[in-house]
Amino acid sequence: MTKLKNIWVFAEKQQNLNELCAGAAQFGEKVSVIWAGSKELACSADVVYYLGELDNKKVFENYIPTIIRLIKDNEPDMFLVDTSKNGRLIAGAVAAVSKTSVLTDINEIELFDDGVQTKRMVYGGAAFKTEKITHGLVIVCIPVGVFKPNIIDIAGNAKIISVDFVPPAVSVECIEKRPKIGETVDLRLAKRVVGVGRGFPNEKSLSLAYDFADAVNAEVGCTRPVAEEEKWFAKERYLGISGTMIKPDIYFGIGVSGQVQHMVGVNQAHTIVAVNKDKNAPIFKQADYGIVGDLKNVIPELLALIKR
Ligand SMILES: Cc1cc2nc3c(=O)[nH]c(=O)nc-3n(C[C@H](O)[C@H](O)[C@H](O)COP(=O)(O)OP(=O)(O)OC[C@H]3O[C@@H](n4cnc5c(N)ncnc54)[C@H](O)[C@@H]3O)c2cc1C
Repeated sequence: MTKLKNIWVFAEKQQNLNELCAGAAQFGEKVSVIWAGSKELACSADVVYYLGELDNKKVFENYIPTIIRLIKDNEPDMFLVDTSKNGRLIAGAVAAVSKTSVLTDINEIELFDDGVQTKRMVYGGAAFKTEKITHGLVIVCIPVGVFKPNIIDIAGNAKIISVDFVPPAVSVECIEKRPKIGETVDLRLAKRVVGVGRGFPNEKSLSLAYDFADAVNAEVGCTRPVAEEEKWFAKERYLGISGTMIKPDIYFGIGVSGQVQHMVGVNQAHTIVAVNKDKNAPIFKQADYGIVGDLKNVIPELLALIKR
């Protein structure tokens, strides 16, 4: 299938932008980016439409008319957008004026002679849904980790065009920004993750998980009940369909049964290691390596092995 002529990309953060540009380059002859923020941008695009630095008065909501005008004037074939709140906001607004719809949380894109086919998970990850868009602007929201970022070209290679601001009818102003109280963690960036499940009998026993994570230089994540029912971890740390979706090099699921809603969030890990005392636990079906045993015995033995 021949490539599309003109693909546009919007992402709020640099890492997502690099990934989406790498994806766009697979499908399009020309990649254009809409970017706001630091001009020290690194991405492999042909053209960067630069909105300028953002400040409290210049928030993304106010740029919607500007972005809509850019899209209308340039008529891309496909618009790839990150899944951040602003990404979704922009995708929805552009779709409304383009009289099309948005395909959200897409994990796969394929080009055919008669259209663009996308795939996404449905029913809590139990099935995939395939859709084909045969005409009009294709707008796709893509989560982090679907495409591998290219080796970064500093935007010197791209033509940078400063965009004239189209004022919105009603503008939004940010009154205040405050750091969040409590921890903040982005497990999507972790290369190694230790997942804690309900197999840990109490909060005190979590020291085993922390010691193990320290030993293998990993972040600690968990299953939903451990965060939401036991409240042993912040919500940001639970992994799965309704939590964070990760793609680390290695995921250790310890005392985790491996229900589909959890595994959907971790099964993109390159290697999955499971520790569970039940040899029939579903996690063993998806694990590359499994240890059947009580975590209270297995973890200290693994720690001793690592020390040796
Ligand atoms: C709509 C919906 C969305 C959901 N979204 C998510 C989600 O995003 N993320 C998520 O995680 N869950 C989600 N869930 C919940 C999910 O279905 C499971 O209930 C949850 O993942 C199970 O967590 P767990 O593995 O910690 O607990 P359990 O299923 O209770 O498993 C505990 C495991 O520990 C093992 N074990 C017990 N003691 C030991 C020991 N001493 N040593 C070793 N192993 C031991 C047991 O054999 C068992 O396999 C969702 C559910 C619904 C309905």
